[in-house]
Amino acid sequence: MRYEELSSPEIDALDRDRTVFVLPIGSVEQHGRHMPVGTDTMLAESVALGAAARLAGRAVVMPPPWYGFSAHHMRFPGTVTLRAETLMALVGDIVGSLVEHGFRRILVVNGHGGNGGVIDVLGSTLGHRFHGKARIACLTYFQLAREAIARLRESGPGGMGHACEFETAMMMAVREDLVHLDRAVAAYPDPGSSYLTTDLLGGSAIRTYHDFADLSETGTFGDPMLASPGKGSDFHAAVVNELVRFIDDFAGWRMG
Ligand SMILES: [Zn+2]
Repeated sequence: MRYEELSSPEIDALDRDRTVFVLPIGSVEQHGRHMPVGTDTMLAESVALGAAARLAGRAVVMPPPWYGFSAHHMRFPGTVTLRAETLMALVGDIVGSLVEHGFRRILVVNGHGGNGGVIDVLGSTLGHRFHGKARIACLTYFQLAREAIARLRESGPGGMGHACEFETAMMMAVREDLVHLDRAVAAYPDPGSSYLTTDLLGGSAIRTYHDFADLSETGTFGDPMLASPGKGSDFHAAVVNELVRFIDDFAGWRMG
């Protein structure tokens, strides 16, 4: 169910206590030489719609704001970044509008690693602001499904970072016409310390700034050559499964 396709009376008729409003967010940023700049937002919206289709009217997907926090990609042409404060204000205004209409369960589904710090803050600040009125949850979908993704991956550490085995396969499943594998170049960047990782599932405790142009000439982190449409469908299905399971649970969370 797409929010932008509903009328005001149709939205008014939704169950205010139980309906989960899913806001996908991503980025407009370079994705190597072989994928479009809109990859992260397209994928976040796609997994959100996949989950909503399985939840029979119990979840509504909001139109995603295209842009995210992508300062670390700005040395590559085509990247557009919001300031972290702008992204926080934007998501805060969207969530605030839904809460003003009395809706009580809002989930931000993020598809861009660079938004991670912002959604951490948003989960806390919006949760505090709307405490007692609404529950707000934020997640990054490839972290939610990290175990299922790890089981399906072929690459070793560093093979999944950006425009990589995972993202390229996912895009092949969602918009294969926008993926040009013949232009892809694999890269295993060396972040320079065993405390640091560029892997999507790497899980380092350290928070620091990685400027992508310092670490990869093409902007790719990982191995897109291992991607295929079939693997992309498997990744996509695994993510949707985890998202459905989470949304089912979230729909029953206590208000306070
Ligand atoms: Zn991406």
